[in-house]
Amino acid sequence: MVPASSDPLVDVLVDRFVDDPATTVEPHGEFGARTTYRVGGLARVVVTVSSLSALRVVVGVAAEAGVPVMMLGRGSNMLVADAGFAGVVIRLGSFADQIDIAEANADGDITVTAGAAVALPVLARKTAAAGCTGFEWAVGVPGSIGGAVRMNAGGHGSDMASSLVSALVADTVSGVTSDRTLGALGLGFRASHLTDSDVVLSARLRLRGDDPHATQARIDDVVRWRREHQPGGQNCGSVFVNPVPGEVSAGALIDSLGLRGFRIGTAEVSMRHANFIQADQGGRADDVAALISEVRHRVFDATGYVLRSEVRMVGFEALE
Ligand SMILES: Cc1cc2nc3c(=O)[nH]c(=O)nc-3n(C[C@H](O)[C@H](O)[C@H](O)COP(=O)(O)OP(=O)(O)OC[C@H]3O[C@@H](n4cnc5c(N)ncnc54)[C@H](O)[C@@H]3O)c2cc1C
Repeated sequence: MVPASSDPLVDVLVDRFVDDPATTVEPHGEFGARTTYRVGGLARVVVTVSSLSALRVVVGVAAEAGVPVMMLGRGSNMLVADAGFAGVVIRLGSFADQIDIAEANADGDITVTAGAAVALPVLARKTAAAGCTGFEWAVGVPGSIGGAVRMNAGGHGSDMASSLVSALVADTVSGVTSDRTLGALGLGFRASHLTDSDVVLSARLRLRGDDPHATQARIDDVVRWRREHQPGGQNCGSVFVNPVPGEVSAGALIDSLGLRGFRIGTAEVSMRHANFIQADQGGRADDVAALISEVRHRVFDATGYVLRSEVRMVGFEALE
């Protein structure tokens, strides 16, 4: 007998998964602490689902209760408000953690299928070790495949769109799960056509066969470059998208205003990279949000460029 909680939504979820111990239901689950900013509050409930059918159940229960749902990958592009998120956070369990690397075809193409929960650095290292080239760039991006498809993550002259063939996507509104081609996914610069009701379950990539020594050397180069150029600590990578890709960089605009080291409360523009905003240990998400907003205003006032943030802000509407 599972004891009743003080939240009827949690009671329904616990009841629905009583025979599915691999699906876990955490009332007042940690949310901000699961992001790379490591600041921000709790979610009303965090559910780690064991299967696609469990995912559908959670989405159905939330819809019936009129409660918002948010997919969480590895939280490397998210800022959760200190007040938390009054909805259901869904994480994909180990069913979405599989990697399959096929044999090269006659043209030397290698099809790689990765579950949405797979971490990009893991896939980059595994494919490089298997003698596949085309995904080495991702070794320094601490996201999941699901988040990377949604954001069209990229770097070092490449991005997801460069190797993505298709992604298996569950539309949680219509209930339809379909394999969507690269064109249908609409990947653009750090963006896609995917909405909050689309859940990426897996992705199919086309890589090329190569000498594993060469692929490993590229992995080492990317790791070295990241260590030399990017700060560690609590951040979410670049905060702003370059306003004119390849021509005007957000970091250079922020730098030109001398904002490295500029601070609001517990948040600071990185001394190492002007497009990174760092949170202090035990810091506040609201300081990070205030600093993002202040930097954007200052850049607009001084240069006329409107900086668009890459960061997914969650729970801040509750404050407005
Ligand atoms: C140190 C550092 C360096 C970084 N460098 C880069 C870089 O070079 N290039 C770059 O592009 N990004 C970079 N990032 C940002 C980040 O890693 C990427 O945007 C990454 O793709 C986000 O993946 P995630 O799993 O962490 O997504 P999350 O932050 O968990 O989520 C981001 C968005 O994707 C959605 N989402 C997550 N999983 C799914 C899913 N399965 N289905 C549908 N939607 C989903 C979420 O709901 C949210 O809207 C960096 C971040 C850090 C901390």
